[in-house]
Amino acid sequence: MLQTNTNYLGVSENYLFSTIAQKIKAYVADHPDRDIIRLGIGDVTLPLAPAVISALQSAVDEQSHQETFRGYSPDLGYDFLRRTISEQDYMSRGCRIDPDEIFISDGAKCDIGNLQELFSENTDVAICDPVYPVYADSNLMAGRNINYMPCREEFGFLPDPAASGSDPCLIYLCFPNNPTGAAITKGELQLWVDHALKTGSVIIYDAAYEAYISDPSLPHSIYECKGAEACSIEVRSFSKNAGFTGLRLGFTVIPKELRINGTSLHDMWARRHSTKYNGAPYIIQRAGEAVYSPEGRKQTRSQIDYYMRNANLIMSTLKDAGYSVTGGLNAPYIWMKTPGTLSSWEFFDLLLEKAQVVGTPGSGFGACGEGYFRLTAFGEYEKTKEALSRIVNLI
Ligand code: PLP
Repeated sequence: MLQTNTNYLGVSENYLFSTIAQKIKAYVADHPDRDIIRLGIGDVTLPLAPAVISALQSAVDEQSHQETFRGYSPDLGYDFLRRTISEQDYMSRGCRIDPDEIFISDGAKCDIGNLQELFSENTDVAICDPVYPVYADSNLMAGRNINYMPCREEFGFLPDPAASGSDPCLIYLCFPNNPTGAAITKGELQLWVDHALKTGSVIIYDAAYEAYISDPSLPHSIYECKGAEACSIEVRSFSKNAGFTGLRLGFTVIPKELRINGTSLHDMWARRHSTKYNGAPYIIQRAGEAVYSPEGRKQTRSQIDYYMRNANLIMSTLKDAGYSVTGGLNAPYIWMKTPGTLSSWEFFDLLLEKAQVVGTPGSGFGACGEGYFRLTAFGEYEKTKEALSRIVNLI
């Protein structure tokens, strides 16, 4: 008889955002005339930058002519994009990452979900709590034990290397952080790199929000730390820095130096990619390249500034109203304490029912998120302002 993968039984039945969507749907069905403002899911709202649109249009045009038509993309990504990323994201920051250490994909989430495949079933995994759910769920589906590292307010929502559990292990870090909005200094990140080097652990570093860093002293890449090439994989996305959530584009960096017992993770990932993936679309990779052009940089920067203006507004309004809020300075996420003794889901229900504002319950990101609530800065400015006035008037 066929047997299903029973590890799926260990994963919570509903993905957090599906549960939220169901609650909103039920509320809208009962109250069709209410205007709901969504500061919940971390999706962008601004249209793509003109430089990106123009690159897409030219690439589409190329596809319509015999001489310039392109079929399958190279599995690991087009050289033009890998070279651009190497130069502009890494070499320019003093990180020696070669183009062939960069693997282009259709987004960070798939890469994050798939990277665990490179490690054996009995690998110990260390994951922050609260956390972006994919790190934990993908490992639970593979039947691994997870050691959750609490990230508490008194320590700036940063995990402690001593809490990573049994060594060596696979450690997931994400900075700037979703959901807490916490950022890590270079010194603090170096401690993690040193820990991984000492224990033979590997760090998967999710830098999907690096473009939101406003403090110039903070690291944008783990490879800014000494020795990181020998112990770290970095995942990046075009979703939040350039609004590609619908287009889909991301990349993973695996340095050739990164080996476990002599086995190259770079070569394993290349093998996996070419077996299971047929390359990100040509037109999307051209659009990705345009993000790095002078106009693309300027235009996407102004989009990020727009979202960060929302973040500042959320932070200052809630602080003035007496709430305890963190994040929002180097990240598009604001992490607020729920008022009084309300649980995260109680506050979610209250906001939905009484203010028609949607946020994300902190407990959906892990046990340590209980009593917190995440708001995102990705909404329209005027709507964000209206949502805040509803929240402030409510309590
Ligand atoms: N990593 C983090 C921390 C995220 O918050 C998200 C999306 O919200 C992703 C990765 C997913 O990125 P992508 O859209 O490239 O799959």
